[in-house]
Amino acid sequence: MPHDLALSPETDFDGVPDGTPDRSTRGGPVAPSHSRLRPLGPDEIAIDGGFWGERQSLNADVILAHCETWMERIGWISNFDKVADGIIGGNHAGIEFVDSEIYKLLEAMAWELARRADASLEARYRALVARVAAAQDDDGYLNTSFGHPGQPLRYSNLEWGHELYCAGHLLQAAVARIRGGYPNDEIVRVARRAADHVYREFGPDGRIALCGHPEIEVALAEFSRATGEARYLDMAQLFVERRGNGMLATTILFGHEYFQDDMPVRDATVLRGHAVRALYLASGALDVATETHDRQLADAIALQWKNTVSRRTYITGGMGSHHQDEAFGDDYELPADRAYSETCAGIGSVMLSWRLLLETGESAYADLIERTLLNNILASPREDGRAFYYTNTLQQRTEGTEPSEEALSERAEASLRAPWFEVSCCPTNVARTLASVGLYFATADDHGVQLHQFGDYSVKTTLPDGRVVALHVESGYPFDGAVRVTVQSDVDATVTLRIPRWARGAATASIGGVHLAADGTELIVSRQFTAGDCIELHLPMQPRIVHPHPRIDAARGTVAVERGPLVLVLESPDLPAGFSTETVEIDPDVPLVLTANGAQAAIRLRVEHSDALWPYAQSTRRQTDRDSSRLASAELTPYFAWANRGPSTMRVWLPLAPASGR
Ligand SMILES: [Zn+2]
Repeated sequence: MPHDLALSPETDFDGVPDGTPDRSTRGGPVAPSHSRLRPLGPDEIAIDGGFWGERQSLNADVILAHCETWMERIGWISNFDKVADGIIGGNHAGIEFVDSEIYKLLEAMAWELARRADASLEARYRALVARVAAAQDDDGYLNTSFGHPGQPLRYSNLEWGHELYCAGHLLQAAVARIRGGYPNDEIVRVARRAADHVYREFGPDGRIALCGHPEIEVALAEFSRATGEARYLDMAQLFVERRGNGMLATTILFGHEYFQDDMPVRDATVLRGHAVRALYLASGALDVATETHDRQLADAIALQWKNTVSRRTYITGGMGSHHQDEAFGDDYELPADRAYSETCAGIGSVMLSWRLLLETGESAYADLIERTLLNNILASPREDGRAFYYTNTLQQRTEGTEPSEEALSERAEASLRAPWFEVSCCPTNVARTLASVGLYFATADDHGVQLHQFGDYSVKTTLPDGRVVALHVESGYPFDGAVRVTVQSDVDATVTLRIPRWARGAATASIGGVHLAADGTELIVSRQFTAGDCIELHLPMQPRIVHPHPRIDAARGTVAVERGPLVLVLESPDLPAGFSTETVEIDPDVPLVLTANGAQAAIRLRVEHSDALWPYAQSTRRQTDRDSSRLASAELTPYFAWANRGPSTMRVWLPLAPASGR
């Protein structure tokens, strides 16, 4: 895809004399040295409108500046200036690991700049990098919370200080810059010095220790791929192998499992403990396994994914059921009203699923990416891009109060989106994900192109033997199920479209009006294409009732409604007067009706027996309850869009009204 560089000629690019990106290093967020499917870079795939185009524009126009403005205002960015000026001791703003938020913002900006040149954003980016670089110590150490006069010593609190976690996000910011085509940029030099420092400090000749929060593992593995420096991969491997030996000090509240330090990564069969930590660690472990051809470790991660998805994942794709330790619960412990389901865990889940998809080519991973992107991650940003959910509950019982637009919020506050948090990991994570999201939509292999996600985007890539596959995808997804793929080159190749799990058996497809079989997990079209050939895939959007697994006690007796790839909710603004989300049931006898963006459902106002002093009884509900209940209809709307109309109550799981004549 052509990139129009609108940069002014006087812009100074370190190591890139003519100011244009180095195409040889351009790529996406994950670049295995070998994989079944090949990821595409920003020269090969781009979202060019529609639903995802709107979100990428919101990110570029609002979210990036929102994050930068907040962190400037509350002193998180000027922490770096204070280190450079030698006055940080006693003057650090924010908790110990706020550096990571600046690095994630830099990563988001780098992906945005990889997507499209923007001289003003480029200038902001470079100014921010310069301030970070000025705070780096001579030996490569870079952290604003430790190691300077008046501060705790370096690495004196590995459990909670997150120095290596922060270093990891610095490396990932540099990886994004390299993959944007700037392998010699200032951030890359800073990251190299930091990575070398980590290797000297913790490598084979250094101390045997770990960071409490995984992230350095995935970052070192990717930085090794991006720079070609094998030592960084060795360091990642050491960190992965060291984990699981009870090396980190525990507290009464947080045991070894919280840190994934309870058993070696390769011995675990399910993700457990702090959800974001577990998902970042698994992503890093899989990167190490791929690069070191460690089949046993790769298989262990795939098994952990499978068991976690089948037993410990919300219908939204959200992960993590515990507020106290932000952790996975036991199998099938998935309470809707106490769902933690942190936005960052959703992002960690996409990171892991994407790696497994590249490695195996199995569409189940792309299915989970779709579910998680649309129903967990996209729920975080408010529709104006100026407030975010940290946790993503599946049931809001009471209307919350609007958080201040000016003050920091507690991280777990979930009633309404907040502009910024004391621990603000999620907004910058959303920003880096939205800036790079198109790079997760399609891949290539020796035979052609695989389309995993639907939206409006273009792909143009060259296969190993020189064939060029160019195509354009158009759809009203996620609201409309018609997907049109127009092939734009004369080429003998294979184009594969994922058929989402929820659509199997009901999808139809054709090319040039000729029917194609579309009853499996994929629609595979192999032929000599002529430019202009159009593959049409129709995915059913009729709303459907979904039942929870019988072992999910917290959801028993309820159902959810899905429409295409979207999980729908009942939200209080859509209820008739006198109805409450706490006292309604869905009537299974009345068919759901498709609406523009959601579904119309028949609901009944449950008869509440007000004389009951004690909320437990020997008798069960009777048919008379149904007969005396009030019937109405209500619009169910996409989960991701909830709480954009002021304080409200909401639920995903709807209690079933007794069926008639039962
Ligand atoms: Zn977070």
